[in-house]
Amino acid sequence: MRSITFNRCGDSSVLQMIESETLSPAANEALVKVALAGVNFIDVYHRRGQYPLPLPSGIGLEGIGEIVSIGKACDDFKVGDRVFWTSALGSYAQYVNVPIDQLTVLEPEIQLTNEQFLPLLLQGMTAHYLVNSSYPVTSEDTVLVTAAAGGVGQLVVQLLKNKGATVIACASNSNRAQYAKNLGADFVGTYDQIEALVNEATQGQGVEVVYDSVGKDYFDVCLSVIKDNGMYVLCGAASGPVPPLDLGRLNAKSLAVRRPMLASYTRTHADRLGRLNDLASFIEHGKLKYPEAKVFALADTQSAHDLIESRTYSGKIGLDPWT
Ligand code: NDP
Repeated sequence: MRSITFNRCGDSSVLQMIESETLSPAANEALVKVALAGVNFIDVYHRRGQYPLPLPSGIGLEGIGEIVSIGKACDDFKVGDRVFWTSALGSYAQYVNVPIDQLTVLEPEIQLTNEQFLPLLLQGMTAHYLVNSSYPVTSEDTVLVTAAAGGVGQLVVQLLKNKGATVIACASNSNRAQYAKNLGADFVGTYDQIEALVNEATQGQGVEVVYDSVGKDYFDVCLSVIKDNGMYVLCGAASGPVPPLDLGRLNAKSLAVRRPMLASYTRTHADRLGRLNDLASFIEHGKLKYPEAKVFALADTQSAHDLIESRTYSGKIGLDPWT
């Protein structure tokens, strides 16, 4: 089978396509034929060494496919099931062994193609848990979102608007900020306008919550614009990790900080399907827009990584391992 691996960290040129034997699934795994693998920013962190992996390593965590064999018979899955997963390392491949507890069967009632489904998985479920579970947003809240034109960001903006919150959305340039405006954000601008936008939107009071996936570059300003008892949610670190935080800095406004991870909010089959069904229902009722995934051939994985790092694209990126 063909798959992508890397044996040193670096830019996208370290990614290599190899041919290898397909491994049999262990007792707690299923072998899945990958129809479409998802490209996510966490794959870039892995490739750069920002989240270190033992090398050489496969890459990619997410995909949609069909079960071809199961390590040990179980009641929940059968050969032929259409499934998705968001945390099986080595998913940029034609086949991957996925731990059974990480698999979810796609219900046939949800009539979406793989390209339409893919954005709802890692990105969609992340956006869903961020606004519902990491901090339960209400219509009373004013919320700041960074990287708002990115994959997760544009979904967060729309889910927040569906809740009736006031949304301040920031991106790296005015075109990308305008993209968030078109998705319903109330106040939009570039990162250097964060303070001014929050002052305008809240009459100087500050926001209830910040969803920040940029990390290092705007950490201080993001922390400074939160009102009393508010929360800073560090969802990602696209610009690099934030510096160590002296908890004393939270004291003056009784702030809370959360560093959430998708896995903690999607441990069970029911968690995952609940979030997915919610998202699919929003799409069905025209309350959530998302472009179909832009799909690259596996041999062109480097271009897929270059695109996600280019800061020019707003959408989901997929890999078709069979072209
Ligand atoms: P995106 O499509 O959002 O791409 C990342 C975005 O980050 C870019 O669009 C860019 O937007 C922004 N950015 C800011 N600084 C930089 C930089 N220095 N280099 C590159 N991009 C930068 O990716 P995803 O939707 O896959 O992920 C979005 C974020 O959410 C990531 O930080 C990821 O780690 C995080 N995430 C967190 C999860 C969790 O459970 N905690 C799960 C899934 C994703 P702009 O140019 O407008 O600034």
